[in-house]
Amino acid sequence: MKTVNYELNVFPEKYEMVVNTTTYSPNDSEFNICRFCPETNPEKFKSTAHLIPEFTGNKELKHYCECDSCNNKFSKYERDLSLFGGIKNIIAGIKGKKYPKHIDKKNNFFAKSKLNTFQLFEHKPNDAIKIENGKFSISTDTQKFKPRFVQKALVKIALSLMDKDEMNKFKKTIEWLSVPEDEITTEEHPLFILIERETRKPLKRPVAMLMKKTKKHNSPEYALLFYYSFFAYQIWIPFNQSDANLDYNNFSFPLSTLVITDLENLKEAKFNHYHMTKLKKVKLTDEFESKLK
Ligand SMILES: [Zn+2]
Repeated sequence: MKTVNYELNVFPEKYEMVVNTTTYSPNDSEFNICRFCPETNPEKFKSTAHLIPEFTGNKELKHYCECDSCNNKFSKYERDLSLFGGIKNIIAGIKGKKYPKHIDKKNNFFAKSKLNTFQLFEHKPNDAIKIENGKFSISTDTQKFKPRFVQKALVKIALSLMDKDEMNKFKKTIEWLSVPEDEITTEEHPLFILIERETRKPLKRPVAMLMKKTKKHNSPEYALLFYYSFFAYQIWIPFNQSDANLDYNNFSFPLSTLVITDLENLKEAKFNHYHMTKLKKVKLTDEFESKLK
């Protein structure tokens, strides 16, 4: 991969917010016209599609231009986005269709959340769960997920928020999104990086913001900021026609201060970056620590 430079403290001058889910309202001229395939038969829009995945705590925001078949396909991506969140999603206790669960076979424990309580069932004593020195900690693995599917779940949110008149730039993005095991992902391409920071207090309701660049500079036209549970994410939207002439050898990514700043202490926080192109299933080490009250 080419070197990727991150730019700090320039995001507010280079990007502006074009859509925010807290003030979003759907465009009814698009109802029952799928954004992701040619479907327009109202009979094929029977299931409830969500603008943001339901498991992140979104009950209200529906997506009316997503047919049943596309909705069904995207639910696989959303499942992997949920698995990527790991044990923290159980601790956050956010209810989607149901409350999430986590099974750790190696360490013999099972965790679930129920009515705002976090429940742990240990079959045997283990080293994964510790309560000592006034701290509670868990060290486990996430369940296996496909990194590329995680990225697709996030790009799908961005395209759902996109202005209808901008959608013609994203034909290739839609092609990429529509084929789960696509062959057009460029393995080492910098546009498939996911920036992640963890927060100390979980959000019960998710927030997504679509950001657009304000002037000519050598970075992608659109970015998505997405917050749910303990996570703040930033991604870029791949295969945008308007990004075709960017110089990828001399590339910089402005990072949103909202994603990389710890809002509680108002200082720059540690963030992770992941390359999200692999289709092979992986798991991550997943750690959680909290002071006992
Ligand atoms: Zn469709």
